[in-house]
Amino acid sequence: MNALLIQSPFPDFESISAEHVVPAIEAILKANRSELALIKDRAKSADLVQTFHALERLGARLNEAWAPVEHLNAVMSHDALRTAYNTCLPLLSAYETELGQDRDLLGIYEAIAAQQTALPLTPADCKAVANALRDFRLSGVALTPADRKRYGELKQRLSEQTSLFSEHILDATDAWEKVITEKAELDGLPETAIALARQAADLKGYDGYLLDLSSPSYSSVMTHATDRGLRQEVYEAYTTRASELGPQAGQFDNTGLVQKILEDRIALANLLGFEQFSGLSLATKMAESPDAVMTFLLDLSNHSKSVAEQDFDDIARYGLEALGLSSIHPWDVAFCGDRLKRHRFDLSDEDLRPYFPVQKVIDGLFEIVQRIFGIEVIPVTDMSVWHPDVTTYLIRRQGVPLARFYFDLYARAKKRGGAWMADCRCRRQDPAHGLTLPVAFLTCNFAPPVNDQPALLSHDDVVTLFHEFGHGLHHMLTQVDCASVSGINGVAWDAVELPSQFLENWCWDPDALNLISGQVDTGEPLPLALLDKMLQARNFQSGMQMVRQLEFALFDFRLHNEFDGQPETLRTILDEVRAAVSVTPISETNRFQNGFSHIFGDVMGYAAGYYSYKWAEVLSADAFSKFKEDGIFNRQTGERFLTTVLEQGGARDALELFIDFRGRAPSITPLLQQEGIL
Ligand SMILES: [Zn+2]
Repeated sequence: MNALLIQSPFPDFESISAEHVVPAIEAILKANRSELALIKDRAKSADLVQTFHALERLGARLNEAWAPVEHLNAVMSHDALRTAYNTCLPLLSAYETELGQDRDLLGIYEAIAAQQTALPLTPADCKAVANALRDFRLSGVALTPADRKRYGELKQRLSEQTSLFSEHILDATDAWEKVITEKAELDGLPETAIALARQAADLKGYDGYLLDLSSPSYSSVMTHATDRGLRQEVYEAYTTRASELGPQAGQFDNTGLVQKILEDRIALANLLGFEQFSGLSLATKMAESPDAVMTFLLDLSNHSKSVAEQDFDDIARYGLEALGLSSIHPWDVAFCGDRLKRHRFDLSDEDLRPYFPVQKVIDGLFEIVQRIFGIEVIPVTDMSVWHPDVTTYLIRRQGVPLARFYFDLYARAKKRGGAWMADCRCRRQDPAHGLTLPVAFLTCNFAPPVNDQPALLSHDDVVTLFHEFGHGLHHMLTQVDCASVSGINGVAWDAVELPSQFLENWCWDPDALNLISGQVDTGEPLPLALLDKMLQARNFQSGMQMVRQLEFALFDFRLHNEFDGQPETLRTILDEVRAAVSVTPISETNRFQNGFSHIFGDVMGYAAGYYSYKWAEVLSADAFSKFKEDGIFNRQTGERFLTTVLEQGGARDALELFIDFRGRAPSITPLLQQEGIL
């Protein structure tokens, strides 16, 4: 039996194998096509509400089979799976295009929309119908047959090219390693990082210590290694990944792909009547126009640039006076920054690690969300997993099961870097089959436990965990029964980071820190003296961090708002953006754009949407300011956030929901205050 075809509340990962993937997806696509033909045949005489639910079911069935495949391809990549995954991409893309351009299907949705007030549909159902009509337009339903064909080709090619872009980064990251024989060469690195390098060497059968380009290894060298030459070597390997330069020069080069992706995106946007890709991207977002996005980013930049310049001057002065560095190279910035931070606050990120053993943090996180939202999180053992590191949980509220989720927290080979939440099941109420509860994948890349010691998280890791858990709550606490707008489905991209960045705030609150910290040997919570230093250091270099994010956001947005097909344009925009906002030196060989998977690793992804992080940060800081007024564990305020934002998912417009919660439109002031910029 093909494990991907079994309908169940959550997948049986132990039974899924790469050979199942293509047959399962082909079978579902075939079944969906014949069912769709039946639905269309009967549409004239059938009950429109039943038709609507039948259509929703088709999407859910496909998603429930594909979500675990997509997940496994990201966290347990191997050749057979990758091949199967890539075989499915064009099939899915063709199917999606076919649905989006099906005029009979459009006719059914138009009929539902025309009669919706008379039909027993929920407001969420009506929102789903309105979104469907919008998406038909964006899928080229109104195009001529020749243009429709072209649309399909562009979509399919983009799906292949962006997938290849991601593969190149993964391969380039995995391809580089450096064996260090003498421990002295790792001078400056914390013991946990050295032990990790030792363990990595052991796993591969090397003597000594192994450095690689996974994020724990890369960032520990850049932040701590006193050997400037080593920092430079690792920096160059990392920032030239997937380019024509560096140790794997040309082997996984994404340069040509970036150009092709940009060309195809603009062609796609033109077909649909948009001058630039930015217009197509914003058609589904909260921001109203390209001007609104540019004004927003430039407004933040105007407030932050001088603070960022001051931050960098501090680093440069400290580098010269205390470390004898007459100039700061790109590979010195994180190192000098950390030294200055330690000097100024007598605090290193490493000092905090022993206070954040992973289990303590997880238990504290669950306690915090229980206090705010009245939910219980319980470990369970009845869900099969893809790796022994994975743990599984159930969420209940007043005894009623609401959702389940997986934690896959540690970095390992063949696992995509970064941290993210993805859906495995979406909440939906199907009149024929009952209620499906949401299931979420929560994935991070923390340094794994070493030598039977529990994994110790940095405070940054703790923030990351809360961030992803915030996305998870948005997906899992939804009370919307219509899959296409339940949880994070149908939420405007630039509002999607609201719950995640919102939850991060508890990582900085003294009362919450008491719950999530406990010294690994003694269990003692974070001492007051360390806490004070940590809070003082919170906004250290916040100006520099702000302009770095603005640099990415402006580069992405301008690129997709001004691209003219000329290969030099990318370089020009990048140079202009850096001249306008960047305050740190950048190496001539830096090819960060070739590894910018947020905007090039997916057909749409964050393309012309990277600004969303800042946009949603404004929303989240402003929402949190309400908790600062009322008390961070205030149950009423928590309940209000739960019912106005988390439970609503994509069933209503993001701005409307925000105003419902906050009582007014969002303001940028709380964010600038929170960052110490204002
Ligand atoms: Zn996020």
